[in-house]
Amino acid sequence: MSNRIVIVTGASRGIGAAIARRLSADGYDLALVARNADALAGVAASLPGAGRHLVLPGDVSSYEAVETVVGRVQQELGPVYGLVNNAGITRDGLLVRMSDAAWREVLDVNLTGTFYFTKAVTASMMRQKIGRIVNITSVIGLTGNAGQANYAASKAAVIAFTKSVARELGGRAITCNAVAPGFIETDMTAGLPDAVRAGMLGDIPLKRFGQGEDVAGAVAFLLSQDAAYITGQTLVVDGGMVT
Ligand code: NAP
Repeated sequence: MSNRIVIVTGASRGIGAAIARRLSADGYDLALVARNADALAGVAASLPGAGRHLVLPGDVSSYEAVETVVGRVQQELGPVYGLVNNAGITRDGLLVRMSDAAWREVLDVNLTGTFYFTKAVTASMMRQKIGRIVNITSVIGLTGNAGQANYAASKAAVIAFTKSVARELGGRAITCNAVAPGFIETDMTAGLPDAVRAGMLGDIPLKRFGQGEDVAGAVAFLLSQDAAYITGQTLVVDGGMVT
């Protein structure tokens, strides 16, 4: 698996860090992106594989930053094979009290950041006539959730974006799929009250919360040769919660 270069956004912790460690173990060269440079460096130091890696601090909601990151990856590592759009945020609140800022921030990072990175790698993937794009959405993008209208809208839009990109780039052997995690134990879910956690656990047939590694396995599959004929799909990784 030489010269397989993958960009992972939101790689400084949580699911993104687990994806980076899994892809490193699978032999990929990695470009790790998030805003916190120190946290990214910590993840880079923990990578188990012998592949090359770059730590590239940047904000996915800035197209200028995204172009700079992708330019450096191509210059210092080579043409991009895979992109994992994982960076994401929540700004929860009931609709009547949701501020314009809370709406926009979530859409800017979760949806526009996914658009920016996908756009920035597309020309190179088209020239290579191969590519894998994996977008991390959420089961909330399928079901909706009270208090998360902004987040649910952003994640549902990522699924529609994924299907459109799959149709547009399929002719160049570029696949584009989404992974929809359920409840995964990370900083994003750490603040939930115990009663809410207990209620959610009761709804999970596999009777445990997910770990970053559970999502990383699905991402690794969609990046692999085994998934060469799969595109436009959303793979739900939720212990059976929403099925
Ligand atoms: P997390 O622990 O909060 O990590 C979020 C990651 O995104 C961090 O690396 C963060 O790094 C990065 N990030 C946030 N804003 C960014 C920006 N503007 N530019 C660049 N990087 C940014 O969350 P997580 O649980 O691992 O979630 C990862 C993805 O899975 C998200 O898309 C999330 O919506 C999705 N998801 C999570 C769950 C769950 O239960 N945890 C369920 C379904 C879907 P910096 O702060 O350093 O920038």
